[in-house]
Amino acid sequence: MDTITDIKGCFTLHNGVKMPYFGLGVYLSKDGNEVINAVKWAVELGYRHIDTAAIYDNETGVGEGIRASGIPREDIFLVSKVWNTDQGYEATIAAFEASLKRLKTDYLDLYLIHWPVKGKYKETWRALEELYRQKRIRAIGVSNFMQHHLEDLLSEASIVPMVNQMEFHPYLVQQGLVDFCASNKIRYEAWSPLMQGKIFEMDVFKKMAGKYNKTIAQIVLRWDLQKGVITIPKSSKRQRIKDNAAIFDFSISEEDMFVLDSLDKGKRFGPDPDTFDF
Ligand code: NAD
Repeated sequence: MDTITDIKGCFTLHNGVKMPYFGLGVYLSKDGNEVINAVKWAVELGYRHIDTAAIYDNETGVGEGIRASGIPREDIFLVSKVWNTDQGYEATIAAFEASLKRLKTDYLDLYLIHWPVKGKYKETWRALEELYRQKRIRAIGVSNFMQHHLEDLLSEASIVPMVNQMEFHPYLVQQGLVDFCASNKIRYEAWSPLMQGKIFEMDVFKKMAGKYNKTIAQIVLRWDLQKGVITIPKSSKRQRIKDNAAIFDFSISEEDMFVLDSLDKGKRFGPDPDTFDF
């Protein structure tokens, strides 16, 4: 069982790199002041992990926010992702360089293949392996890879992905995939941990939040960490960024973890990795 300590606490990836299990997501945070402030506030509040992507079109602001926080770059775990239209060996290398330029940094802590683009992702992975060997990236991983995508990738890969970032919340657990990743030492990471905000409308979570005197977001984010899943809730509001991180002063009982686990409906709020068309 993983130990959860505080906002700066880490899980150790299979290559020994320590990755903070709690971070800030910035999808839909606008480049410019919105994302600069979100990142700066988060880092000031103790966040040490920021999750962006080339397609979010805000890497410039993310880099600025980190610099504005005054915290050294090497104390932040910075994640970006190669977009679908940039997949393939050469294009991925070029996309990586372009991300670094926008972020104004000379390395990434984690670089992910954003989606498993058919016929392309193995070449993309070869590029990530090369960048990793050159020590331009501290860890490499994938996102939106189902078990069959991972099996296909692993059949030719020389490096096993360190992370798989997937849609994950109490309505979409995909336990078979979680177990498959665990058995291959691939750390599971949750995107849309708050169901893109829809979780706040659901009564079942209100009841448990009342019981622990916590918010719905805090309950669900704590559930992620107790399940050993890295989590990156998004907000661009200072108070919410602060509140979402107030999950290190309580724990959910085994019984209530089971109650949350049992809500799984296999329901997605985002695209399906087997049918996406972008
Ligand atoms: P999320 O589940 O984090 O929910 C974000 C929404 O909840 C926002 O509308 C926000 O305003 C609201 N919210 C946040 N905290 C709140 C609070 N305390 N009270 C009330 N409302 C609150 O959704 P997300 O942004 O889709 O996912 C998180 C991150 O995961 C993204 O920002 C991105 O970094 C990453 N992501 C990755 C992929 C991928 O394909 N790899 C896809 C989607 C998201």
